[in-house]
Amino acid sequence: MKKIQMVDLKGQYNDIKTTVNTSIQEVIENTAFINGPKVHEFQKHLESYLGVKHVIPCANGTDALQIAMMGLGLKPGDEVITADFTFAATVEVIALLQLTPVLVDVNEDDFNINIEAVKKAITPKTKAIVPVHLFGQCANMDAIMDIAKEHNLFVIEDNAQAIGANYQSKNGSQVKAGTIGDVGATSFFPSKNLGCYGDGGAIFTNNDELAHTIRGIVNHGMYERYHHDVVGVNSRLDSIQAAVLDAKLPKLDAYNAARQQAAKKYDEALKNTDAVVTPFRNEHEHVFHQYTLRIKSGNRDALVKHLNEKGIPCGVYYPIPLHKQKAYADARYNEADFTVTNKLVQEVISLPMHTELDDEQIAFITSTIINFLNE
Ligand SMILES: *Cc1c(COP(=O)(O)O)cnc(C)c1O
Repeated sequence: MKKIQMVDLKGQYNDIKTTVNTSIQEVIENTAFINGPKVHEFQKHLESYLGVKHVIPCANGTDALQIAMMGLGLKPGDEVITADFTFAATVEVIALLQLTPVLVDVNEDDFNINIEAVKKAITPKTKAIVPVHLFGQCANMDAIMDIAKEHNLFVIEDNAQAIGANYQSKNGSQVKAGTIGDVGATSFFPSKNLGCYGDGGAIFTNNDELAHTIRGIVNHGMYERYHHDVVGVNSRLDSIQAAVLDAKLPKLDAYNAARQQAAKKYDEALKNTDAVVTPFRNEHEHVFHQYTLRIKSGNRDALVKHLNEKGIPCGVYYPIPLHKQKAYADARYNEADFTVTNKLVQEVISLPMHTELDDEQIAFITSTIINFLNE
């Protein structure tokens, strides 16, 4: 059996080596390392793949979130509601811009932001909601957009984990995750569903004016060379990363399908194990950035240790709720409002998930889990 990895980037590379190498070589030959033609080509291809008017590439997913918030003109003291159960980048940029993060509980089934909790958290100072499409499956965007409309709030989608996922709107239309709110932010970190070979990110929007504002912000606040109209940042997707991404984008649907196939096999093997809750599917496509189980028998940590001893990598995303992190704790939070995240952090375990998992590996992983839990 091939060595099991949490993410197998080497196996994936072997399959696309010629295309990727040629694409990178082109950049080196033409030396357009910054804002070269590859960046523009990838931008256009991603716009057409996502069906969104504007893609603005940037340096990483964290920047994408920050720049989205800067572009919307959010001001210190504005309250921004987001999920307690996500990667810290989401809340970090809110705090960094001196906006006030308001963390709320998530759903026990799909792990996404809880709509009732969002409603309860709205105050006259609330200016935006940041749903995170956690582990590859969309939050309830119909409900979030309704709330936003009613209270005149911006919606910024953290789409770092769900690129390519289809969202089935209640009005019948199907759109891509990240293109529903005012603005979407994604990451091309190597292990993401569309990953480059370093850091990368992008911002999506259908709003022409916002796209224009953001294009200036990523480039030192310049709309005309050496005229700095607003305070900006330096956040660029470098051309070599764009070359990798442009070579991989045509494969994204196949990559997501490979993840879904692996997820199905995991489900099948684990469905009769009482202590395990396999990932819930809401009505939107799940592209399995992570395949995350809940272990109901109280021995999640012992299982992690056991799997590691058997050479099976796994992850706990996330072990501590954000509202309990030193940097984001706030006296206004009430533990009773976080019953779900407080429970999930003790139950979740993410199994190896990537495009190269084979049947033998999945069988070994699942039988090791079942044997341990049935001991
Ligand atoms: C990866 C990730 C980010 C940050 O992306 P970087 O490119 O690493 O800065 C933000 N939010 C979520 C939910 C992520 O998973």
